[in-house]
Amino acid sequence: MLPRKRTRQVTVGTVKIGGQAPVVLQTMTSGHTHEVDRCIAEVRKLAEAGADLVRVAVPEKKDTAALPPLLAASPVPIVADVHFHFERALEAVEAGVHKIRLNPGNIQDRVKVDRVIAACKERGIPIRVGVNEGGIVERRDQRLRAAEKASLSRDYTGNLIRLMLDKLAAYLRIFDENDFHDVVISAKSIDPRVVIDMYTAISARYDYPLHLGVTHAGPPETGRIRSIAALGTLLANGIGDTIRISYAADPIHEVEDGQELLCSLGLRRRRGPELIACPGCGRIQVDLFKLVTDVRRQLAEIDVPIKVAVMGCLVNGPGECEGADVAIFAGAGKGVIYVRGEQKQVVSEDRMLEALLAECREFAESVKRSEAQLESASR
Ligand code: SF4
Repeated sequence: MLPRKRTRQVTVGTVKIGGQAPVVLQTMTSGHTHEVDRCIAEVRKLAEAGADLVRVAVPEKKDTAALPPLLAASPVPIVADVHFHFERALEAVEAGVHKIRLNPGNIQDRVKVDRVIAACKERGIPIRVGVNEGGIVERRDQRLRAAEKASLSRDYTGNLIRLMLDKLAAYLRIFDENDFHDVVISAKSIDPRVVIDMYTAISARYDYPLHLGVTHAGPPETGRIRSIAALGTLLANGIGDTIRISYAADPIHEVEDGQELLCSLGLRRRRGPELIACPGCGRIQVDLFKLVTDVRRQLAEIDVPIKVAVMGCLVNGPGECEGADVAIFAGAGKGVIYVRGEQKQVVSEDRMLEALLAECREFAESVKRSEAQLESASR
């Protein structure tokens, strides 16, 4: 892992993006913003799952009209996603939204952009300049692009990146000329290779914080690979201040996978259990996959960071078990349970799940007791 690149910092309600602030995890609601009760419920669910910021679409006036009650009820800052109609941005600013997203692909009129910038400047509201491959490339170019992409031409990605950088630079000049620097940049593509090269080029050119994402990544089963390949590479190279993984599915999956990515890279403290399990092989003598599934489901009730290992045999079992908080390796008809790296008990196969979970709960309680003692000692 390379050290994080230090960028400018912007403030989005109670959340900081950039500088050396922790990488911010965001997502977007899937429902209509004007159905305000449902929208509030969705925002709360996403925040509870770990989203630091939630973006909402405001295509119509009735959507910006729903912002005041949403902002009053939301546990996290809200970003208004504006396309085509600059008036929605002005209404969202008036409602007190915490950040605006503008798309240079569909709001280009200088007078309109100036008005949005002036309104945000007056209220101290940051703007994300969100360039998308699909929205910024002219139609004629898109047809050429399809032909070039079919041949996976190197020229294609090089040209696309140059085009996106030029569009971005032209848009950012407007912000510069308004002496407005509360800016976050995103430049998304459906192609993880373009995303990696694009953000690397932007990071070298600008010190604005970067919002990472792969756009239109598809359903989680395939979108996960596209997103993690690009975002994981960039984050490991020290690039990126906020991320959104986007799926054609319930956004709760975006938050879950975003959290796992940040935790796996050591960029976020885990809030719950981390499960390590071997893939199983011909040495296995128990139903390991069932055991792992059952353990995973039941660990969901535990809300402290705890590393749990479930291993199929003696080969790697003891090594992994010694490195986990609570662990088990299975053998012929029995399981050996470790706690804090020490062997604690041997149980029969029919008691493995129950005994392992009991140790996990006891471990979690002891963590909570220690944290409470530390807290009362620090008062
Ligand atoms: S721990 Fe044992 S069962 Fe699991 S993959 Fe390794 S050798 Fe196979």
